[in-house]
Amino acid sequence: MDPSFKRLKGFADMFGEQSAVFAFLETTARTVFANYEYEELRAPILEPTELFRRSIGAVTDVVQKEMFTFEDVKGRSLSMRPEATAGVLRAYLEAGRDKDSAISRFFSIGPMFRRERPQKGRLRQFHQINCECLGSDSPYIDAELICMLVEFLKRAGLKNLQLQLNSLGCRECRGKYLEELKKFLSSRDQDAFCEDCRTRSVSNPLRVLDCKQVNCRELIADAPRILDYNCRACETHFAKTLELLKLEGLNFRVNHNLVRGLDYYCRTTFEVVSDEIGAQTAVAGGGRYDGLTRQLGGGDIPGAGFACGMERLALLAEKNLKISARPIFYLACPDEENMNRAFAITQELRKSGVTGAMNYKPASFKKLMREAARNGARYALILGADEATSASISIKDMDKGDQISISARNLKEKLIELLAKKPE
Ligand SMILES: [Zn+2]
Ligand SMILES: [Zn+2]
Repeated sequence: MDPSFKRLKGFADMFGEQSAVFAFLETTARTVFANYEYEELRAPILEPTELFRRSIGAVTDVVQKEMFTFEDVKGRSLSMRPEATAGVLRAYLEAGRDKDSAISRFFSIGPMFRRERPQKGRLRQFHQINCECLGSDSPYIDAELICMLVEFLKRAGLKNLQLQLNSLGCRECRGKYLEELKKFLSSRDQDAFCEDCRTRSVSNPLRVLDCKQVNCRELIADAPRILDYNCRACETHFAKTLELLKLEGLNFRVNHNLVRGLDYYCRTTFEVVSDEIGAQTAVAGGGRYDGLTRQLGGGDIPGAGFACGMERLALLAEKNLKISARPIFYLACPDEENMNRAFAITQELRKSGVTGAMNYKPASFKKLMREAARNGARYALILGADEATSASISIKDMDKGDQISISARNLKEKLIELLAKKPE
């Protein structure tokens, strides 16, 4: 291949097992979300840059540094979506769904794009599963989203999940808290904070709370807690959400340092963390964003949602589920004169749902066995001259090496019988 066509840094090709795990996650998501009446929304990957500037915020790292942005021939600035919510809200408003009183529930699955530094294994095209619910500020929606997320993650094979929650209050009550937090942060030894937090403590003090640096964590250990500043309405909303989660038998932990960096987040925020891949890592996160639609020129619509990164999810699901992309058979036919018969057998198996392939070119028996091994098939089916004369077929177990010969007429049943046996 011409080396100038090499795959771009931070972009991945997906094959075999990884593709199979992704497909499994997508199918599981579609099944679970459909039960909750979430409809699939396939929004475009490319949108006007202004949409993201307005919804995510012009002075955020995502918008300032991380988007793939370019001009089209008419000089209009376009961007590849760095996250899903903006496009979903745009589609919702554009379809006039905000005009009816019904609640709109959406999920979407697909790639997102950010110009992350590709070292550290960060991908510039990564994949997310997103859910958004628009049109209701009820705590039942918060609980519904969280229950649905946990159910999806469990069905995807994830174990040892921990649900963490916090409430960020509303426009009414958060101002007072931010003042107190700023006061607290400025009373600390500024030099002890990490560089990011020194800037954040003025520009975005909430973000100091979720800094991962040990020093910063110690410094904020006795910071004021946002829940103590929640107004009555926010307090009731959060209490109801927790009550519903308990009713559903979900375990959770209130994490006072769980925040989201952007101004429009309000009330419930949540994360599901797993400690299966090293340190505790978030596999999904979300929360409420009432009124975000106003930033896109819509009305004051309440909303809530979550996002899960599929790459991380796939690592965990792969560990726990033995999803195998392994084919069941490879039919080895050394001679040209038996090739049509071999093809007919292969086709018959495929049509009855048994996965496999065959050689279409005559070759030595030895070479064909090597091909069967490289193919990864569970069984090699052999249709040589001997088998052809006796109307039989040989089945070789590629793992154990033992071989049996059966009448070709019973092949399908025999294979099904062999497959039903548990592989050791
Ligand atoms: Zn409030
Ligand atoms: Zn810090």
